[in-house]
Amino acid sequence: MDPHRTYANVDARLLEDLRKAGHRRIALQVPAGLLPMAPSLALQIAEATGATIVTPTRACFGGCDPPSPEETLGAEAIVTLGHAPILNMTEPVPEYYVEMRTETGDVERLAEIVVARGLPRKLGLVASVQHLDLLSPLIAALAKKGVTGLVGVGGKRLAYPGQALGCNYTTATTLEKDVEGFLFLGTGRFHPIGLSLSVAVPIWSLDPLQASLEGPYDRQKMINQRLLLIESAMDAKRWGVLVSTFPGQMRRALAQRLVDKAFEHGKEAFLLTFDRLDGRDLVGRKMDAYVITACPRIAIDDASLYDRPMLTAPEFLSAIGDRPLTPYLFDTYV
Ligand code: SF4
Repeated sequence: MDPHRTYANVDARLLEDLRKAGHRRIALQVPAGLLPMAPSLALQIAEATGATIVTPTRACFGGCDPPSPEETLGAEAIVTLGHAPILNMTEPVPEYYVEMRTETGDVERLAEIVVARGLPRKLGLVASVQHLDLLSPLIAALAKKGVTGLVGVGGKRLAYPGQALGCNYTTATTLEKDVEGFLFLGTGRFHPIGLSLSVAVPIWSLDPLQASLEGPYDRQKMINQRLLLIESAMDAKRWGVLVSTFPGQMRRALAQRLVDKAFEHGKEAFLLTFDRLDGRDLVGRKMDAYVITACPRIAIDDASLYDRPMLTAPEFLSAIGDRPLTPYLFDTYV
């Protein structure tokens, strides 16, 4: 069996592996976009294995936040849809990752679009897990048109070369000096924003299903928004240092280091723990600002949900005067 138990899609191999393992209770973790699949998949797994299926309803955002034993009613295994494993995370019980890969996309047409829009001739390619299988064929199609596509190998949190993870773009940063821009394969702005904050070359995104290209993104505008937020927190005296209880989001040592840094710089800081952060739980705590040591995207994408500045770890260090404001540093979760 694959040591990380990964599956391209819900298939006979998954059902057979689950059946052979003999789990009597299996939890099904389904991200928001795939919720309609959950009932039929639960029935399919129950039928193939005879196990009881438990579906935790808490939203899941990545391979980093598996449900706790309490949430799964003590399940012996977890089936996670739509995410790849986080390689350097310890899993409480065996997890089966169904990555929902799609090879859909006309690579010849996609390559034509890239060339017609005049993208640089040396591109780094990054993809969401669902579209990783398109990287090789697209590189071949681009090569026929004189465009070199490179794929980087990232850090130990990442399962695949070329993989985009919202908290770790090392598959791009390791290539940054060798390319003139990056092309992200996937949908939405989540990864283009993360890439823009991580590398200093232009970013485009290509939706393989719609065959639509966006970019280059205004990297400086995104950084300026972050710098304004950092500056708004420079006078903060009392800081809440937020620590997640999710196994793949808990950076306890970093949190302690930030508390120590705060006191070194004449500030006060308090460790606050949470699982799923809700702004209402922070109201009335008499903190001037917060720094998040869990998923950095909570600070970047959800900043407007909190009534006090919410910074990432490097942003916090800039706010208290421990590092310069620029160059902007993305909080890479290693
Ligand atoms: S820490 Fe955030 S960006 Fe990283 S895998 Fe978890 S949810 Fe995704």
